[in-house]
Amino acid sequence: MNRIRSGHAMTCEYKHVIKIPGQITPLCECGSGTGNLDHLLFLHCQLQNTASIAMLDSIEYLYHRENVPPYLRKMDISTLLGAKEHLPHSVRPQIDSAVARFLATANPKL
Ligand SMILES: [Zn+2]
Repeated sequence: MNRIRSGHAMTCEYKHVIKIPGQITPLCECGSGTGNLDHLLFLHCQLQNTASIAMLDSIEYLYHRENVPPYLRKMDISTLLGAKEHLPHSVRPQIDSAVARFLATANPKL
């Protein structure tokens, strides 16, 4: 999680940028897009789709259950991985847990 938050997740795109031997393309192994965090977390990756749906559904349910006002219900990469100051304190650690469950389930080798 810390590597992801610091921008050093070993995604295909990052490994390509820092020239890891054998990483000849920034594309994801699924072949449907650039292998970055946005691709992995937000339903773009065919290899992580089930885990991604579960994570996003659990966060959506959390927003509803905790009565988070709709204008605060952001579902973007900065909210999932860091900036949650706009959200109630009760919600923040639960989003971190949802992301951690995604990472444990999907095991995207980051
Ligand atoms: Zn993919």
